[in-house]
This record gives sequence, structure tokens and C-alpha cells, in this order.
Amino acid sequence: MNKLALQVAPPRRYSLGNFPTPLMPLRRLSAHLKGPQLFMKRDDLTGLAFGGNKTRKLEFFIADALNQSADCVITAGAAQSNHCRQTAAACATTGLECHLILGGEAPNTPNGNVLIDLLMGAHIHWRGQDRKGQGLLEVEKSLRSQGRKPYSIPYGGSNAIGAQGFVEAVSEFRGQLTTQGVVADRVVFASSSGGTQAGLVVGGKLRRLNCEWLGIGIDKNEAGEKPYVEHMLEIAGDTAELIGLQTSFSARDFIVRNEFVGGGYGVMGELEREAISLTARLEGILLDPVYTGRAMGAMIDLIRQGEINKNETVVFWHTGGGPALFEYAQGLL
Ligand SMILES: *Cc1c(COP(=O)(O)O)cnc(C)c1O
Repeated sequence: MNKLALQVAPPRRYSLGNFPTPLMPLRRLSAHLKGPQLFMKRDDLTGLAFGGNKTRKLEFFIADALNQSADCVITAGAAQSNHCRQTAAACATTGLECHLILGGEAPNTPNGNVLIDLLMGAHIHWRGQDRKGQGLLEVEKSLRSQGRKPYSIPYGGSNAIGAQGFVEAVSEFRGQLTTQGVVADRVVFASSSGGTQAGLVVGGKLRRLNCEWLGIGIDKNEAGEKPYVEHMLEIAGDTAELIGLQTSFSARDFIVRNEFVGGGYGVMGELEREAISLTARLEGILLDPVYTGRAMGAMIDLIRQGEINKNETVVFWHTGGGPALFEYAQGLL
């Protein structure tokens, strides 16, 4: 019985990226900050149309969409959404039609992620002020009424299905720590729609990896929205249930620093500019203006304040986002 069930179980993961992504030391940045030993987990190198953290989630979404015999995929985000760009590429490789619901208006000259969405053949529905998946149901209904079989991915790809990508990422990461003889005290990363952090926390429990998962909040909680930690608790609970992990989570499992949001989501300030410039000049690595620039700026600030200790070993988890640099070219130099 069991054997048969195993044989017919559909694959949960569809290969889209290059894994494992490298775990490497940041020697010059560590020396410059006279601070902790810094490492970087290079999810900017997942490879799917310039890569990023969403590739890990999409391997599970695309498998699920194909298992359900969907013929098109719908998702949503900000105009410069990296999640939407990687979804467009994942759809192109599998022959699924891609519908993106993006905040803002159609630009005269598409650049950065929007340019790539269009090159990948995605259909873009512009939504003005809305950038968090409003309008997803409407597009889904409209496609169904045309006889299509749409598969909807929530904004940011943050639910239990997507978070599995980061549960598995922890296994990959733990193996690299062991092989390289690195003991990580903290892992710092940009946190925004919650699936990455929820997956890391669940994976950390599953693999008994004792480090602090320190999310840097990128977005403000808007009035009427569920508090961010509650949202992540829900995703983590659903993810544990999905993978059959018997454990519970509390708000203390989710550490998020919210004081670095500056002018708000997508508004690049001096914090981001300095972090991007330092990382480029000292390590030859590109960060992005919205997520990783802010998270790196926050980490540097916490090191300078002494809150992150000089004796620690800290891993910065690079979540990608590079293509947005071109859209922000004017403010970068
Ligand atoms: C989406 C994204 C994040 C945040 O991941 P969440 O799972 O939404 O919290 C961080 N960095 C980059 C570059 C992203 O595109």
C-alpha cells in the first residue's frame, strides 16, 4: 500500500534554480567594519532570470500548478516585484501563461523587472495604488469564465506551499555550515511578505539549527492589515502542518526589526545607498535598492551600534533583487 502510494505521489518540487547557492565569506567587508565574521548566502545566484529568493518558493508553486493541470499562473506585487519577474520566467520555462497584477501605471519605457516581465511574455494588469494582490480574484474569475485553469500565487509567494522552499533551504544551509566549519550566531535577511522568514524558522526547528533568524522589516504594516508577526505565525503553522512537523510557534520565534523602513517601501535613502556602495566596492557584489540594500544597511548599523557583537559570526542571506538597480539608477550615485 505504502509503496504504491509513494510511487504515484506527484513531485512536490519542480527544478528551476541552481542549488545549493554558495555560502561565502565577506572578508573585506568584515575587515572594513572591524566587526564580526561575515558570510553571505548567495540566493542572488539562483539563476532564474537574474535569480533571487522567490526561485525557492516557485519550485513548489510550479510543481503544484502542474499537478493541478493549471494552464496559467496569476500573481501580484509592486511594479518592480522580483517575485513577479521570477514567476514570469518560471512560467516561460514550463509553458504556463503568466498574469501579473502590478502596482503603478504602465511605464513609457519599461525598465528593470518590468522589462524582464515583458521579455518573458507575461501579461501585466496595472493596478495603481494596489500592490499586494488586490484584484487577484477578479483576474482569476475572468480567466475561468474564458475556460482557462488558473493557478493563483499570493503576493510575494508567501503561504505554506512557498515557504517549503525555505524549509529546504535550511537543510542546504546547515550542510554548508558543517562542511565549511562555520558556526552561525545570526542570520540577517530582508523580510517583507513573510514566507522567507516563516520557512527559515520552520526549517530551523526541523533541522535543530540554533541561530537567531533576524528579519529586517522592509515594509510598513498598513492600517487594517494583520500584524506582521501574526501573519508569519500563521504561515509557519500551516507550513509545519503541511510537512508533518509537530511543533508550535510563538511570537518570540519571529524577530523583526522595523526601524529601518525610512521613507517606506521602495523609497531608497542614504542607508541603502551606502550599503549598496560599500558591498559593491569591497566585495564586488550587487545589492538592490528595495530589499537587500536596506537589510545590509540595517546590519551595518547594528554592528556599528555594537548590538551585533564583534565576536559573532553573522550570515547575511542575500535574497536577490539586482534588476531593480536600473530603475533606481538616478538616485544611486
Ligand atoms: C521578496 C523579497 C524579499 C522578502 O521575502 P519575503 O518572503 O517576501 O519576506 C527579500 N528580498 C528580495 C530581493 C525579495 O524580492
